Amino acid sequence: MENNKNLNFNTRVVHSALFPSEWQGSTMAPIFQTASHVHETAENLSLTFGGKKSDHIYMRLTNPTNRILEEKLADLEGGAGTVVMSSGMAAITNTCMALLRAGDEFVSGNSLFMSTYLLFAKVFKKYGITVQMVESTETESIEKAINAKTRFVYLETIGNPKMDIPDLARTAAITHDHGIPLVVDNTLASPYLCRPLELGADVVIHSTTKYLNGHGNAAGGAVIDSGRFDWNKDRFPDFQPFIDRKGPLALLDKIWREHHINFGTTQAPLHSYLTMIGLDTLALRMERHMENTLEVARFLKNRKEIKWINYAGIEDHPSYDIAKKQFNEKGFGGVLAFGLENKDACFKFIDSLQMVYHLANLGDCKTLVIHPHSSQYLSFDEPTREKLSITPDLVRLSVGIEAVEDICDDLSQALGKTVT
Ligand SMILES: *Cc1c(COP(=O)(O)O)cnc(C)c1O
Repeated sequence: MENNKNLNFNTRVVHSALFPSEWQGSTMAPIFQTASHVHETAENLSLTFGGKKSDHIYMRLTNPTNRILEEKLADLEGGAGTVVMSSGMAAITNTCMALLRAGDEFVSGNSLFMSTYLLFAKVFKKYGITVQMVESTETESIEKAINAKTRFVYLETIGNPKMDIPDLARTAAITHDHGIPLVVDNTLASPYLCRPLELGADVVIHSTTKYLNGHGNAAGGAVIDSGRFDWNKDRFPDFQPFIDRKGPLALLDKIWREHHINFGTTQAPLHSYLTMIGLDTLALRMERHMENTLEVARFLKNRKEIKWINYAGIEDHPSYDIAKKQFNEKGFGGVLAFGLENKDACFKFIDSLQMVYHLANLGDCKTLVIHPHSSQYLSFDEPTREKLSITPDLVRLSVGIEAVEDICDDLSQALGKTVT
């Protein structure tokens, strides 16, 4: 059905952007597995290239299956438009590149996904772009770092592995005082837990590979634009052609036209299809993820092998209060980190797990474990790892939707093997 804002989120997650009458009665979006689309007349193709008609031309530009997922995600995040891409990193790269020019600056929270950190701290440097990294939860530091060259502020809803949660409404108010937008990577919360655009953020980014898909069977990314930010400012003179073309969706048009289609970060329609199957159960899965993670956190906290735990659902975590408020008491996220005696204990623990999968991913319905210091962050120098709280004693757990007793049993027997 057409997007209907009056329906509850848990209903919209199943029903939005479905058009069976256009799909021969099918309730699942068809997979349009085609590289290109026929146009009856030369006039029609010309009008489509000119943006006067919204027909499809070529897969790298748009695809009907991808467009259905785009409508669905815009509805779920409360945005005015979406572009889906081949991965979360594609969405992050294209969005930042559309916002930045050589010589510009931006401010980012320092609690960042590993590849995002590398992109910001190392890759952008090559193009003369400066990132000011500050503590994600310190709104005063964010404000202090903003100057005349700053084009946006970037945050993650839930940092990983610190599990720190910035106050999005307060940060958005600050960025808007300075005439710049707030961009939020909402991957770890998903729109079930948090809708940053409703809190004042201007752009939301997702790695759909994680909770939105939920089954670890397709990579994908998305950028969702609120359509509310006023780009018509001295700070954004390069936005004028996009404002002329798309008005409030100028940024999304810039991301799509300047970067997505030229960088070729195309989403495979099959991946959009698989993501949509996953999305049907998002609310249900998230409910169980939240319940299970809180229970696992409480279980781990009481174990003598555990030296410390990072989870906003534990009352002494610095983000406990903001998490409760910002996530409407629906939960605290499905990922947690904890410390064992040392690296050897972490390896012994991981190698002893029987049900929990050891792999590099999160947000899957299966419980997943990893030792980030020796894997994703292996190439980082030690001072940087320390700065990012990636310590040798840290284990990261993405809690799945299995019976929580079975998760705790497996963790318990593996913890038992870490002490001799
Ligand atoms: C995984 C992840 C990404 C990157 O997404 P890919 O789909 O792997 O490219 C970005 N941000 C966060 C928070 C992530 O967890």
